[in-house]
Amino acid sequence: MADNEIELYELETLAIRAGYEQTHEQENSEAIFPTSSFRYQSAQQAADRFGGVEQGNVYSRFTNPTVRTFEKRLAALEQGEACVATASGMSAILSTFMGLLESGDHIVSSQSVFGTTQVLFNKYLKKFGVEITFVSQTDLTDWQQAIQPNTKALFLESPSNPLTEVADITALAALAHQNDALLVVDNCFCTPALQKPLTLGADIVIHSATKFLDGQGRVIGGAVVGSEAIVEEAVRGFLRTAGPTMSTFNAWVFLKGLETLSIRMEAHCQRAQQLAEWLNQHDAVEGVFYPGLSSHPQYALAKRQQTGAGGLLSFRVKGGQQEAWKVIDATKMVSITANLGDVKTSITHPATTTHGRISPEERAKSGITDNLLRVSVGLESVEDIKADLERGLSQLV
Ligand SMILES: *Cc1c(COP(=O)(O)O)cnc(C)c1O
Repeated sequence: MADNEIELYELETLAIRAGYEQTHEQENSEAIFPTSSFRYQSAQQAADRFGGVEQGNVYSRFTNPTVRTFEKRLAALEQGEACVATASGMSAILSTFMGLLESGDHIVSSQSVFGTTQVLFNKYLKKFGVEITFVSQTDLTDWQQAIQPNTKALFLESPSNPLTEVADITALAALAHQNDALLVVDNCFCTPALQKPLTLGADIVIHSATKFLDGQGRVIGGAVVGSEAIVEEAVRGFLRTAGPTMSTFNAWVFLKGLETLSIRMEAHCQRAQQLAEWLNQHDAVEGVFYPGLSSHPQYALAKRQQTGAGGLLSFRVKGGQQEAWKVIDATKMVSITANLGDVKTSITHPATTTHGRISPEERAKSGITDNLLRVSVGLESVEDIKADLERGLSQLV
């Protein structure tokens, strides 16, 4: 599909066809280019490519055809001008802030972001003189009060993990822009199939491609999507120099993953909704967190902002850690792992895994209680998933 045709097509089509130019071999499936460097026709061409006078491949740390196809496709899906692919979701976040921030700058982040993101902010960005304030994901006043004259960016994930709190992206984009700051949204859980933050006013979208974009738990990767000025100059400039680059093989795997993104996300949502409703009426369950339940505090906002409630849910069992672990250990089919966004359903106990490194007081404050379980709902039969959870839940009532 030619770049100038992108606006003629819907997301389902773009996910399969955007960004690819067939080679002279006339292949139908995207070619993969495992080459570190590229050959030039002359000394003049080499000089022009290095100097940026002539567009084209130079060296796979920052230009590779397979990676470029992935970048163009994801940019088309997110409706962004430009995209840069990275080695992981974490390096997408790191590259964004290394590209944009200076010592003395300040960022405001939701306190509900991915644990490793919090460590990156608290331990590493701080080391280079960047100030961080963490605020409540859903309290707009909290965000307002945290803004300082040196605030350069607001950062969030929505819905959050594991409690699925939904942030008002439009309102936070407006707040950021009133203060000459950028809104950065990690769109890992929704993917562009369910939510397009740039169309809601956000400036930058971050992805851990490792999750739903691959969708089958195979490879690690990430991406940054946004305007030409931010992505090409600031972020790719850093990537070109520092090298947290996506491999050509991984880019190819992600392209294959994207081909089924729409139907997978639809199926994840369907199964998660059914599982959430079933858990919600279960005698051994104290409460369910899922934006598709009308009892969810941001149900209306999620409906407005997302085209589906997503594949992640969490729930509290009656009891404490012992009861929660009982449910995990009684499963025979679902995977006991913290990974998410896979066709394989996974179950995890946040308090002792993903959130195990933060103090019990902080955990309690952020709602990560000992009886909380998180499920990333895969694409197995929902009846089989229910039956697998029922093995443990039935022991609790
Ligand atoms: C997993 C994850 C990341 C980090 O991505 P990696 O690919 O594992 O580096 C960032 N944000 C969110 C929301 C994630 O779930």
